[in-house]
Amino acid sequence: MNISKNILLWMSENKFMKERIPELKFVRKAVKKFMPGETEEDALYAAEQYLHFGVPLVFTKLGENISRLSEAQEVRDHYLKLIDKIKEKNLDIEISVKLTQLGFDLSEEETINNFLAIVKNAKEKLHNSVFIDMENSLYTKRTIDFYKKCKKDFDNVGICLQAYLFRTEKDIEELLSFNPSIRMVKGAYKEPYDLVFKNKTMVDNNFFLCANKLLSESAQKKIRPVFATHDEKLINSIINEADKMGISKTSYEFQMLYGIKTELQKKLAKDGFVIRVLIAYGESWYPWYMRRLAERPANIWFVIKNIY
Ligand SMILES: Cc1cc2nc3c(=O)[nH]c(=O)nc-3n(C[C@H](O)[C@H](O)[C@H](O)COP(=O)(O)OP(=O)(O)OC[C@H]3O[C@@H](n4cnc5c(N)ncnc54)[C@H](O)[C@@H]3O)c2cc1C
Repeated sequence: MNISKNILLWMSENKFMKERIPELKFVRKAVKKFMPGETEEDALYAAEQYLHFGVPLVFTKLGENISRLSEAQEVRDHYLKLIDKIKEKNLDIEISVKLTQLGFDLSEEETINNFLAIVKNAKEKLHNSVFIDMENSLYTKRTIDFYKKCKKDFDNVGICLQAYLFRTEKDIEELLSFNPSIRMVKGAYKEPYDLVFKNKTMVDNNFFLCANKLLSESAQKKIRPVFATHDEKLINSIINEADKMGISKTSYEFQMLYGIKTELQKKLAKDGFVIRVLIAYGESWYPWYMRRLAERPANIWFVIKNIY
């Protein structure tokens, strides 16, 4: 991992900076590249523009590692109200949540209750799925176990897995019997060196290997493979491989983030691929935004330009 990426990931976890950097006007201005605004109205407005050109969405309210269970209940209630709004407006929007925002550090039982309330509502009112984001590797095993528990009772839950972790290929194998919905990503956190592939090429290779596994299994099993990446080379390799396997364009899906590779998003939609765009919103954007900067440290120049 290069030095600037390491520093940015360290900054994403630093308490002192977490309290001060979000107050800086030029940083607040720069954040707009990756999120349409802090409120759900901002997100809904952006969603309607995307839906015009045939791209459905995923919504996530930013926040993680809350310290009181009452905060988790507020997050749950926020999503329950949001589901009603999405239904009322008849929009194609799924939800993706972080378990530590629903109380995972405090009570597993409360987290399950909060999460399943959202899942149940999404199933009944939107007929769509709720995904679980994958946080840092301290949570990987617990998150997968949590997913398995929920998947037994609800078919409309998905989980994110990270290609940078050595363990992911085996995790996929173990999840296959659950007919999972799996969103593959490269991984966004600062991780211990003994758990992750050491360079980008190795992570990309592992992503491709995991994607192949999901695609080939999707022919026999009821699984939903989602490839969340902006890496055009990887996307083209996945499309070629699916083509070789005779898997139709609509049997797998791509996802990308709001503000990144917008033209590619539109092109994939125009070419008949399934693509969803994730829109993040909310006031607690600092750690999430720092991870976006770390993915492409050149983004720092964009932040600096906003000083003037
Ligand atoms: C829908 C979605 C959900 C995600 N959920 C999770 C999750 O739950 N857990 C998790 O750990 N990670 C998650 N991520 C983040 C993911 O792990 C990567 O950090 C992120 O997607 C960047 O990797 P990449 O696959 O785009 O490839 P990269 O090799 O990093 O990037 C490929 C190209 O995309 C462009 N690009 C990528 N990132 C940026 C950026 N920030 N700014 C500008 N250009 C950029 C650049 O042109 C770059 O060359 C998610 C990503 C997406 C799209």
